[in-house]
Amino acid sequence: MRKQVSHLRGMYDTLPSEVWIWQRVEAIVQQVFHSYYFQEIRFPLLEKTELFHTAIGESTDVVEKEMFSFDSRSGHSISLRPEGTAGCVRAVIQNDLCNRGATQKLWYKGPMFRYERPQKGRNRQFTQIGAEIFNIGDAQADAELILMTARLWQQIGLPNISLEINSLGTSEARKRYRKVLIEYFNKHQDDLDEDAQRRLESNPLRILDSKNPKMQAIVKNAPILSDYLDEESINHFEQLKQILDECGINYIVNPKLVRGLDYYSRTVFEWITTDLGSQGAICAGGRYDSLVELQGGKNTPAVGFAMGVDRIVELIKDLNLWQQENNVDACLIIDNSINNKYINKLSEKIRNYLPKLNLYVNHNPGSFKSQFKKADKLSAQFAIIIGENELNTGLITVKSLQNKDFGQKELNFEDFIELMNKYK
Ligand code: ATP
Ligand code: MG
Repeated sequence: MRKQVSHLRGMYDTLPSEVWIWQRVEAIVQQVFHSYYFQEIRFPLLEKTELFHTAIGESTDVVEKEMFSFDSRSGHSISLRPEGTAGCVRAVIQNDLCNRGATQKLWYKGPMFRYERPQKGRNRQFTQIGAEIFNIGDAQADAELILMTARLWQQIGLPNISLEINSLGTSEARKRYRKVLIEYFNKHQDDLDEDAQRRLESNPLRILDSKNPKMQAIVKNAPILSDYLDEESINHFEQLKQILDECGINYIVNPKLVRGLDYYSRTVFEWITTDLGSQGAICAGGRYDSLVELQGGKNTPAVGFAMGVDRIVELIKDLNLWQQENNVDACLIIDNSINNKYINKLSEKIRNYLPKLNLYVNHNPGSFKSQFKKADKLSAQFAIIIGENELNTGLITVKSLQNKDFGQKELNFEDFIELMNKYK
């Protein structure tokens, strides 16, 4: 036996037994997003490394230690995208989509790559679906994204999901806060873990996001950002809360909620579930009014989110929320004395007339009994039986496997097609 090659750590195969869940999530997302007139955009999985360094920020976890970066053959550093916003913004600028202040509502889906320690809900290749609104500075855009995701959870049927929101203010407000925060953490130097020590100068706000239980006490008593917010950001946040109240969306204001990427300003939010253990964040987003300019475009207010589809699929499986729908309409059940060539010819003829029918064809037909067993297992609606008798008479026997009243009918080809057309 040759040595097998397995997949990379933290990357996995999605098998047919599970793919249907992904497809159904994606179909619901697409339907809901399109009902808000978001348009899909597709951009490359690989970009120049500098794009992510500029957009995400040098002192973030993602850029510091999670990127899959390597030299391309031409000697430039390129990276697999760790998230979608940077590439989406690049595409918007490069294709001039926000020309003369035009509003854009875009969404994307696809794999993202981060070199993380693999565990439940944390993979090195994972799928995000995200949406971004460009050129609306008003809080109603932030609200629309939150309302759209709330509708999505409702359509999927996710229970126990809660929304946390916060405002990060303008970069000036954060600068003021940063100073106070550094002073505070400096006073507690001895209690800081290694990560926090490292972040103290480069990105002290991220210390608030620490997942280390030993850090919770000093994080809890830290000064809070809302005391340092500018007036406009306060108004923006009030407006958002008011819209959410009016639309009946429950939320928790979490003054310690900061996001892992540098580009956020004002609104940040996170949808969290209690059903997934420690990786409970299923969707996160916020406003990033200065990112388009930072990436070389014109001043363009923007807001967006990304959800972790792997975690959502995990939830659907863990909570047994969905049952797989039967997708076999008919099984061809064939007498095994019939020549194999005839099987293709007959099934092709049926498909020519009934292109929408999901037809299961057993290419190695055993006994009638085993074929009926298989049809039962597939929850097929009909059995299309072709035996010697059918071959001689040219008639087709159709049996309903789900409706006893229907029984069994012997039909000529035209009547058979008519009947199946009524069903499909
Ligand atoms: P976390 O705090 O869990 O590391 P993050 O702040 O790095 O999350 P974002 O960059 O905001 O996450 O990504 C948005 C969403 O993508 C997350 O809420 C999560 O659902 C999902 N996600 C992020 N990283 C991973 C991963 N390694 N594996 C699976 N899903 C992920
Ligand atoms: Mg992370």
